[in-house]
Amino acid sequence: MKSRSWPNGSTTAWRKTRRHVLQRDGSELDDKDRIITPGPCMLRIPGVCTHWATCVHHTADRLIVGDDPAYLIAACRACNNRVGDPTRPGKRLEAASHYIHTDLYNL
Ligand SMILES: [Zn+2]
Repeated sequence: MKSRSWPNGSTTAWRKTRRHVLQRDGSELDDKDRIITPGPCMLRIPGVCTHWATCVHHTADRLIVGDDPAYLIAACRACNNRVGDPTRPGKRLEAASHYIHTDLYNL
C-alpha cells in the first residue's frame, strides 16, 4: 500500500472512509482493509485506466470537503495519478468531473 502521499493515510478515520468508498464502489475488502476483489475504476481515463480500482480518489478540494465519502470515488492508481491531487494548485478536476458524470449515466 502506497498511501504515504496522504498526510493522514494511516489514520483509523481514513482507513474507515477508504473502506467505505471502495466497498460502495464495488470492491471486496478483508477485515484488514486489504482489497480481495477490486471494483471498477470510476475515473476510466481513456488510454490511462487499468480498470481495477485500488485506491480512493478525491473529486473535490480536500482542504474544503475533507474526507467526505460524497467526494470520494474508487479509482485505479493510473487514473488517480493522472488526475493528480486536487489540493495541489494547478491540478483542478475538470477532467475527472467529466469522466465521473459520463460514468454515472452509463451505470
Ligand atoms: Zn482508472
